[in-house]
Amino acid sequence: MGCISLALFCKIFEENKMKIIMLGAPGAGKGTQAKQIAGKYNIPHISTGDIFRANLKNGTELGKKAKVYMDKGELVPDELTCDLVMDRIKDEDCKNGFVLDGFPRTIPQAEALTAALEKIGQKMDYAIDVDVPDENIVNRMGGRRACVGCGATYHIVSIPPKKEGICDVCGAELILREDDKPETVQNRLKVYHDQTQPLIDYYKNQGILHTVDGTVPMESVFGAIVTLLGQ
Ligand code: AMP
Repeated sequence: MGCISLALFCKIFEENKMKIIMLGAPGAGKGTQAKQIAGKYNIPHISTGDIFRANLKNGTELGKKAKVYMDKGELVPDELTCDLVMDRIKDEDCKNGFVLDGFPRTIPQAEALTAALEKIGQKMDYAIDVDVPDENIVNRMGGRRACVGCGATYHIVSIPPKKEGICDVCGAELILREDDKPETVQNRLKVYHDQTQPLIDYYKNQGILHTVDGTVPMESVFGAIVTLLGQ
């Protein structure tokens, strides 16, 4: 890349202030919020969970390796996860920002992300923690349903499909995901507290942490996020 185009590239990145990380326990609603942020600010929604599930569905090697961990509610090893995200955020559609959902989930992942962005003179702009106590999480996840066809998610109480057990988007069957079953949820919460919660301090130290109350209705959570992101 020549000097002028490199300067232009850096300037574009400088102006882009929409590099967002969603933090929060599994089931806190960060995926729903991430999708809405992506829609409103016209930036890609990058969910590592969705990427792994798509690989699983397509029977790829990565999908097969990830399934072993996902079914137990454990984290897929960092070496299988980091490159995937680093490659994705280099894509053209990420030039105006992106919203990361489910990544980083460990301190080494966060450090890998910080290092990759530092190489291009950048840093993340916002880490938004959607805060929900554990007892609410267990209730919520038992009611979650996912489409076997397109992966859309519902909740039997708060976001029911129009027809019970059937996806509004593609008409396929809705199921309780293996990793949303109560025993797996307990393990995912433990993994969250042990490995992911330390990221709250990590991003607090970087000065970009914002906490929103995730127990209020979804629209109010989104309202709080828009207030902090502005526009
Ligand atoms: P999610 O849909 O984000 O809750 O992710 C579902 C599962 O995918 C998790 O329970 C993990 O097994 C795996 N996973 C997703 N993101 C990551 C990540 N950043 N690091 C390790 N494992 C992940």
